[in-house]
Amino acid sequence: MSEIGFVGLGNMGGPMALRLVGAGHIPTVYDKSQTAIAEVVNAGAIAASTLEALTAKVETIFLSLPTPEVVLAVGRTIAANPGSVKRVVDLSTTGPKSEMELADILAVAGIALVDSPVSGGVAGAKKGSLALMAAGPAEHFAVVEPLLTSLGKVIRVADEPGKAQVMKLINNICSAASLAITSEAMVMGAKAGLDPDIMVEVLNAGSGRTSASVDKIPRFVLPGTFDFGFAISLSLKDIRLCLEEAERLGVPMMVGNAVRMLFAITKADFGPDADMTAVIRPLERWASVEVRRATAKGA
Ligand code: NAD
Repeated sequence: MSEIGFVGLGNMGGPMALRLVGAGHIPTVYDKSQTAIAEVVNAGAIAASTLEALTAKVETIFLSLPTPEVVLAVGRTIAANPGSVKRVVDLSTTGPKSEMELADILAVAGIALVDSPVSGGVAGAKKGSLALMAAGPAEHFAVVEPLLTSLGKVIRVADEPGKAQVMKLINNICSAASLAITSEAMVMGAKAGLDPDIMVEVLNAGSGRTSASVDKIPRFVLPGTFDFGFAISLSLKDIRLCLEEAERLGVPMMVGNAVRMLFAITKADFGPDADMTAVIRPLERWASVEVRRATAKGA
């Protein structure tokens, strides 16, 4: 019996499933897209033709799915067809409310949930250098911890599923806000005639350093590729989940709301599949200037 199942082989799930194969496992995999399945199966995973076929074969199922709605729908199918499944590990950003609902749905079928969202992007998923924040029952966490370790650094947050999701939303609002403000500031610098690479060098040597100045802007904005690998619609989903949770807790998030607006405008202007790094583009358009490396402008 294959012990491990993996559902959702997209930008993050594909490389994470490949890491498990690289660590010597043979996961049984399922995605609604055949294209997504192909690369992982070529590397040695086994394809399941349906989710029900997968649950019949495995004890542990990893999920890396786009939205809370999809996670809950897949969770309901697993609970209705539990097969040999003992635990589900949700690597998606699902938000605490839906994660607790997922735990309840699975519990009816005697299945435990380990809530384990990830941070570090596609590059981190490929390198096995993600940050994984985990919350779930100790005995099930103990079983999956060695598997999670092959994906990156595992930090145990709590026993109750949902708590790791809160941590993930905190991480992502910080990441989105630093991208938004660094984008605004660098558009200002470009308008004033500063060289973008020099701006990045100074920020990274100084107190303005963020994940945007270290990674997202120099690697995906300055060359004009906009292919960090996180869709603006999914990033906006994370911001929305964070603001909803903050409101539920009675915590004001003025800066978070401003960030949400910029991301919503970017999605409206460039479409849901645009990369999150495209948030600089509406700002560039309004300021009539582009923040690109000279070579990326064809100079
Ligand atoms: P993605 O859209 O690239 O991949 C999602 C995959 O799920 C796709 O292959 C899709 O075909 C599959 N899928 C959708 N519905 C399905 C269903 N009903 N059954 C089976 N498969 C289904 O998304 P992603 O960027 O890989 O993100 C996945 C999750 O990880 C999201 O929750 C996201 O917020 C989170 N996340 C993404 C990043 C990133 O940088 N991309 C980083 C950290 C966390």
